[in-house]
Amino acid sequence: MIDLRSDTVTRPGPAMLAAMSAAETGDDVWGDDPTVLRLQTAVAERSGKEAGLFFPSGTQANLAALMAHCERGDEYIVGQLAHTYKYEGGGAAVLGSIQPQPIENAADGTLPIEKMVAAIKPIDNHFARTRLLALENTIGGKVLAQEYVTQATALAKSRGLATHLDGARLFNAVVASGRPLAELGAPFDSISICFSKGLGAPVGSVLVGSNALIERARRWRKMLGGGMRQSGVLAAACLYALQHNVERLGEDHSNAEYLARKLAEVEEMRVQSQATNMVFVQIPETHCATLEIWLKERGILTQMLYASRFATHLDVSRADIDTFVDAVKGYFAR
Ligand SMILES: *Cc1c(COP(=O)(O)O)cnc(C)c1O
Repeated sequence: MIDLRSDTVTRPGPAMLAAMSAAETGDDVWGDDPTVLRLQTAVAERSGKEAGLFFPSGTQANLAALMAHCERGDEYIVGQLAHTYKYEGGGAAVLGSIQPQPIENAADGTLPIEKMVAAIKPIDNHFARTRLLALENTIGGKVLAQEYVTQATALAKSRGLATHLDGARLFNAVVASGRPLAELGAPFDSISICFSKGLGAPVGSVLVGSNALIERARRWRKMLGGGMRQSGVLAAACLYALQHNVERLGEDHSNAEYLARKLAEVEEMRVQSQATNMVFVQIPETHCATLEIWLKERGILTQMLYASRFATHLDVSRADIDTFVDAVKGYFAR
């Protein structure tokens, strides 16, 4: 099947599986799984932070980070469209007793500075304590302008807020911008990075930050059920991805660009935007269900909505994109 639903669908290939089966393991809750330790150190070093912590999912890494930054009754400033607000089941509020203060994202994914200024609350018993700013990069595939990031995090710091970056796809931003991870991550106190998206590992995220922050997050990880044992098997896949699958994200980006260009030839489809490995397209609502079935019958998995997202990744080739576009053209030509 050609699967364009998400970049989470990548399967580990033979070389990654070989690295996993050769992994040296220990018990990570005891802190002695050498492969997990190696991954945590590698990601911490590459991102210019003191320490790293391996998590089973990005959702848990983000939640543990929010809980490590905030206490009960604190709040974090976050975008309406941010994963940590919209797509994580309300975990910060449910499990962290942390109140989100959502702000409408601008079209480029940023949170307008003046809206943040207005949302930061004075120290007063009436208000939740504003403690944290959480940004996301990439967001909707878009790379945040680093000038914006510098400005937003400087504002946060000047008001005594900590800063967290949901960098699930930060490596896409690294490759697209040509700036190193340490540079993109420098303004933040903590960053979560997913290995199970375009980097192609089956499972895993790493949270990086200061030693003190990571020690607090480790306690929350245990409480949240994320303390894994011989997790070196999984960390080995992430190490493999770090070594082999970062630079190649550029191929996904050019494939997405190609996909957007080809879909623009289809009159019924309105390409809204393309950035890094994502293409957003408007499809007439009357066609969504039938087109999705038509494609599935031809070995192509999509999620057709009025505003559809197609993601390129290491299991989608340029030829697969041609197959997909031909099938779409075939559908509309009936
Ligand atoms: C995928 C993703 C996460 C984490 O998701 P998990 O499925 O829990 O690993 C977090 N933030 C963003 C922006 C994501 O795309």
